[in-house]
Amino acid sequence: MLEEAETFYASAPQELTPWLAGLGLAQTIAGADAHAGPAMIVHPADGQTLLAYPDADLRHVHDAVAAAAGAFPDWSSTSWDERRVLLERFADALWEHRQTLTYLVAAETGRPLRRAFSEIFFSVDYVRTIAAQHLAEVDYSRAGIRARLVHRPLGVAVAIAPWNGPVILAVAKLANALLAGDTLVLRPAPQTPLSALYLGMLGRDIFPAGVLNVVTGDAAVGAALVEHPDVAKISFTGSTDTGRKIAAAAAPGLKRLTLELGGNDAAIVLADADPEAVANAVYRISLENAGQFCAAIKRLYVHESLYDEVRDRVCAMAQTAVAGSAFDPASTLAPLQSAAQRARVQGFVDDAVGRGASVIGPALEGGGEGFFLPPVLVEGCQADFAIVAEEQFGPALPIMAFTDEAEVLAAANANQYGLGGSVWSSDVERAIAIAEKMRCGTAWVNQHGAFSAALPMPFAGQSGIGMDYAHFGVAEHSRAMLINAKL
Ligand code: NAD
Repeated sequence: MLEEAETFYASAPQELTPWLAGLGLAQTIAGADAHAGPAMIVHPADGQTLLAYPDADLRHVHDAVAAAAGAFPDWSSTSWDERRVLLERFADALWEHRQTLTYLVAAETGRPLRRAFSEIFFSVDYVRTIAAQHLAEVDYSRAGIRARLVHRPLGVAVAIAPWNGPVILAVAKLANALLAGDTLVLRPAPQTPLSALYLGMLGRDIFPAGVLNVVTGDAAVGAALVEHPDVAKISFTGSTDTGRKIAAAAAPGLKRLTLELGGNDAAIVLADADPEAVANAVYRISLENAGQFCAAIKRLYVHESLYDEVRDRVCAMAQTAVAGSAFDPASTLAPLQSAAQRARVQGFVDDAVGRGASVIGPALEGGGEGFFLPPVLVEGCQADFAIVAEEQFGPALPIMAFTDEAEVLAAANANQYGLGGSVWSSDVERAIAIAEKMRCGTAWVNQHGAFSAALPMPFAGQSGIGMDYAHFGVAEHSRAMLINAKL
């Protein structure tokens, strides 16, 4: 199915700006266009300004929350099945519009079109999977008492998304909120508003007016939504620093929070691991996507007996990277999302090199004015180097040799984050035993970053609060209520 992307290249828009203008993208408030703005968006693969898009001001924040609050009584009175059917129709609409959505994600992220399509493909699956979830009632009845724990919607939910998964993170939040019976204001990242604006427009034909609202805007708009007194729930994905600010802003109203934050995932490669599988995961999941995945491998610990082979295999794959237009079938490498993000990642590399580390990888050709960096490994890092201790979110991965299992486990766990981690070995039972000692939300064995809407996504440490996916994301958009009757 993913091969279908290859057929999208030939019909891709030749000129992005007029094509985008022709889509008539607008914010969605109360089921209608809400024009505003304009703000500018840059295409990361060539650094050129794409177009002006409608940008919210504080008036739109109030209008959107008012529309969502107005729609809540009717929407929350619909049955679970009615809401499930509408979400399935929304998934059908995403699939029907997959080509346009793919072009929008490629335009706003600069990622190769086939990678943009895989986000749309999995987004459709996420909506269908979440739509199939149920929240079970729990019966606590005993002699003379009938007591049931039921689930009720919360009210107006706000979804604040980052730029690194503009569709999948938006639709997962949307599906959780709407299935639970909440109404929603979705606010995408200012770097990637286009696909979210389109999602809002698709939703107008499916959901009653006011159930799904989409407003754009900068961090001030995000903050105003979080602080709004009529908002009951905030679902945020982004950095740990911003997560802290959101938690503080939500505190006075004791708003319900789901925070999916940063990660600094360690991969521990034991001496008996398959070096080809490791190199493949490191390159495809972390480096080729410019490291812009919350659960990318961000620290690579390799047993000294396998170190050279893993390093050389990753470097050989990195040599194949082609930087160029997202719409050129030859391009394989994702650019950084912005010049600021590229400068930030380069800063981590420069700092490590300044302290004695060395960079191994290709000198990138092509890419023009795009925000590309070459996909590299960084050798000779110490635990206190910023590129090891912090989340680099870029295509520069520290690789470190180890001999002692206990020491490497301690090093992997000595980090403020706790999103994911992995252990690689041909002895799966041994790897599981080590994985169980990792301090993270998901510990993978012989894979990394494998998410599914059918599986919960827990967090440890500073990587988040709450849990999304499976039935947990829907539960987090609901409140529990006990009905306790004396018979
Ligand atoms: P960011 O924290 O800079 O921004 C995230 C969103 O918050 C953006 O839309 C931004 O405009 C908005 N925002 C900023 N300040 C705000 C405020 N005070 N109030 C409300 N909204 C505000 O993160 P980013 O750079 O866009 O995304 C990358 C980060 O996201 C990385 O740390 C990555 O690990 C994390 N992430 C985590 C997950 C996960 O599931 N845990 C998934 C994807 C990305």
